[in-house]
Amino acid sequence: MGSTRTRSEQLFASASEVLVGGVNSPVRAFRGVALDEPHKRSPLFIERAEGPWLYDVDGNGYIDYVLSWGPMLLGHADPKVIEAVSLQARKGTSFGAPCGLEEQLARLVIQAFPSVEKLRFVSSGTEATMSALRLARGVTGREKLIKCEGCYHGHGDSFLVKAGSGVATLGLPDSPGVPADLARHTLTVPYNDLDAMRQAFEHNAGAVAAVFLEPVVGNMGCVPPDEGYLQGARALCDEFGALLVFDEVMTGFRISLGGAQAHYGVRPDITTFGKVIGGGLPVGAFGASRAVMGQLAPEGPIYQAGTLSGNPLAMAAGIATISQLLARQDDYPVLAARTRHLAEGIAAAARDAGHPASATAVGSMFSVFLRATAPRNWEEVKASDAATFRRFFWAMQERGVYLAPSAFEAGFTSFLHTDALVEQTLAAARESFAAMG
Ligand SMILES: *Cc1c(COP(=O)(O)O)cnc(C)c1O
Repeated sequence: MGSTRTRSEQLFASASEVLVGGVNSPVRAFRGVALDEPHKRSPLFIERAEGPWLYDVDGNGYIDYVLSWGPMLLGHADPKVIEAVSLQARKGTSFGAPCGLEEQLARLVIQAFPSVEKLRFVSSGTEATMSALRLARGVTGREKLIKCEGCYHGHGDSFLVKAGSGVATLGLPDSPGVPADLARHTLTVPYNDLDAMRQAFEHNAGAVAAVFLEPVVGNMGCVPPDEGYLQGARALCDEFGALLVFDEVMTGFRISLGGAQAHYGVRPDITTFGKVIGGGLPVGAFGASRAVMGQLAPEGPIYQAGTLSGNPLAMAAGIATISQLLARQDDYPVLAARTRHLAEGIAAAARDAGHPASATAVGSMFSVFLRATAPRNWEEVKASDAATFRRFFWAMQERGVYLAPSAFEAGFTSFLHTDALVEQTLAAARESFAAMG
């Protein structure tokens, strides 16, 4: 051992010469779980994936609970998705002109989301939220937005902002390169705190274009909304004349066919999509009523465009994915129950080993937090035991379970994560905590 490096470690070292941090998206670099041992610093390089399984370049298989960070609800390399993409690729991969597939996928999305009457496709979730923000600003003629601490809406300038301690104080950028002049238009409030949201509105009367929410947070781990929180946000937006934007990039088609808005019965003004609707190809979308979407070019003056928007390969993958999901409506509650059993089982294994732990699960999203009670916001999420998580992460990987390489990311299941795989995972969790001592 010792000096023998795995193929993944070798690839990571050579990739790091030409790719920043060896990766094309920061969290993939495993910095959130890096330990001192050299082989516990390097990400797995993946050779292929099938169903619930991920296979690395060293030939190891893993039960995958990351699922490309959400999209693969049908499991990897779904046969119908692969067939649809292959068929379409032979006919051409991009036209820069309309094709019928765009309307087909739009109709499938609209069928599941009654709040959406018209859609615009883009190429990523980031693009969807950036465009939705411009739309909200253009429609209302206002410049400010309210977002919640710990919610991620892609890497657009206006969203990479936190408000510091005070409610409704001016936003400060989270990243160099975000102009302070822009960041001050972003007001940040704690999740699940309607009083803070009201204060932000009151201190900025007539200036707030939109509230952006992850209706179930997936980007600080899985944090569900308190009962009445989404309804309260809806009411505040109506009272202050702002638009309510549900960022369903992660939750759309995943926690239920109609996303969080169907699950909780709250109707947003604008919805953003990504992840599942592209079946693993690069895609995003945003949609709203005809009146709101009619303000977008070419029907209206608010500009938005994209060379690869509505890309035929992505549309074909999306159609093959969503049409299968529509046929599996009855399987959603089964998967939700299985996912809850998984999360609660891992938390129980942690507690049995003497670690405080709590679990959350909504649909096929889940988290295990190494703290005694389930967190309701980012402050509480941060107060979980990240050091123990890091050791747990590697212990699980050694036992063939691939978890998100961060204590602050949600886990995902697919329809191919069977009861047997869940039990196998729970056995691995018990062994892992026992081995960690
Ligand atoms: C992943 C995600 C995004 C960003 O989507 P990308 O395709 O990574 O740009 C935006 N919002 C939410 C809620 C997400 O989970």
